[in-house]
Amino acid sequence: MDAFDLLMIEQPLGVEDLVDHARLAERLNTPICLDESLRSIGAVRSALELEACSIVSVKLGLVGGLSAARGIHDVCRARGVPAWCGGMLESGVGRAHNLALATLPGFTLPGDISESGRYWDRDIVTPEFSIERGRMAVPEAPGIGVDPNREMIRDLAVRSASFGRLDRPVIRGATHGSQSNSGVRA
Ligand SMILES: [Mg+2]
Repeated sequence: MDAFDLLMIEQPLGVEDLVDHARLAERLNTPICLDESLRSIGAVRSALELEACSIVSVKLGLVGGLSAARGIHDVCRARGVPAWCGGMLESGVGRAHNLALATLPGFTLPGDISESGRYWDRDIVTPEFSIERGRMAVPEAPGIGVDPNREMIRDLAVRSASFGRLDRPVIRGATHGSQSNSGVRA
């Protein structure tokens, strides 16, 4: 693989094979990036200490959310390890979080963040995400920067439930289709 002068090779071995990744890294010039192996800050620290990888892919869903992802970012940045934000089949809600994460300064490699149209006829947020000349604009509105398209979500819903504060009495749940309605209590 070295002959191809690649930026990186991603997760070439099994999820738990940190030692084997470290052995492989000794024999390759191509940097190894770990992805599925890195499910927590501890896993990232172990991988870096073992020199099992020299590039880190951070997936928000895999590591358990923004706090963990931020912590991994901080570990990588302190060590000067390049990181990038991995993506999967997110809807616009997940994509908005990914995009915000990817703006942190330690994410020095391009993220795997697709535009809405790559996977969806219509995304569930407005505005949808688009890429122009390889770049995606970060929304500047508060919160995740985009609004869920509630009408569309209602049209697509298979089940719905409403949750409220404990001191509010009405909590309703409804199942569309063949299943019967069911109440839900918060
Ligand atoms: Mg991957």
